[in-house]
Amino acid sequence: MKKVLITGANKSIGFETARQLLKQGYFIYLGARDKAKGEEAVAKLKEEGLTNLEAIQIDVTNLTSIEAAARQIDSLDVLINNAGISGSFPQTALEAKTDTIREVFDTNFFGVINVTQAFISTLKKSSEPRIVNVTSGLGSLTLHSDPNWKYYKVKSAAYGPSKSALNAYTIVLAYELQDTAFKVNAVDPGYTATDFNHHNGPGTVEDAAARIVKYATIGQEGPTGGFFSDDNNPETGVSPW
Ligand code: NAP
Repeated sequence: MKKVLITGANKSIGFETARQLLKQGYFIYLGARDKAKGEEAVAKLKEEGLTNLEAIQIDVTNLTSIEAAARQIDSLDVLINNAGISGSFPQTALEAKTDTIREVFDTNFFGVINVTQAFISTLKKSSEPRIVNVTSGLGSLTLHSDPNWKYYKVKSAAYGPSKSALNAYTIVLAYELQDTAFKVNAVDPGYTATDFNHHNGPGTVEDAAARIVKYATIGQEGPTGGFFSDDNNPETGVSPW
């Protein structure tokens, strides 16, 4: 049975991703920074008859927590770097506090790097390792510099740049792993109704999770080093960087 670690999986998109992968027969390490919330989420899925999972305490901004989680997992096929925050507002270029920007980068960028580095040796033991970095269209420099893009006016000096940096890291990571069995991709789940945006997004967690699951389970013929979002090109799913 293939094993998956999802960070920030106690609710919303991460939780639904866990549910969908459990239904496909994967074992899930359900990552939560708050162990109690993780246990609650696990209990909820077990009530649905989905039993191949356990909660793992992992705060992606805390190296001690990441290393402790890595010591508990000795076999892993898929890493889904899903945990993310928007940060407080205002996020205008002229008013955003650099402390806010650092806080957002700590979770959305440095957190992903620390988690990836902590789990890479375990992932390398898998015959078909996969890494999905959950990004956002707001991280696409091409899109958010295009006045015709539907979210052109949604600007953020902390969140968007943190996802642009994550995208850049994804390219470097995929490049380094290109001659291996790894598939490393950035996936935008789409603007989705969750706590993240006070449930303002038009998309559903089911659809958002399905986009992530697609690249978490992609075959050896699948892409690596890509940025995918059904929002921009539903046919190919390819998003401009
Ligand atoms: P959400 O409802 O706010 O859930 C975020 C999850 O991340 C929660 O489980 C949260 O834990 C966890 N988290 C936050 N900081 C963490 C940390 N330091 N360590 C570990 N876990 C942490 O957000 P969501 O909408 O599901 O978003 C999931 C991902 O999709 C994020 O990367 C987000 O940027 C991306 N995304 C979302 C949308 C959207 O419209 N919703 C669009 C594009 C991309 P707690 O419960 O403890 O807070």
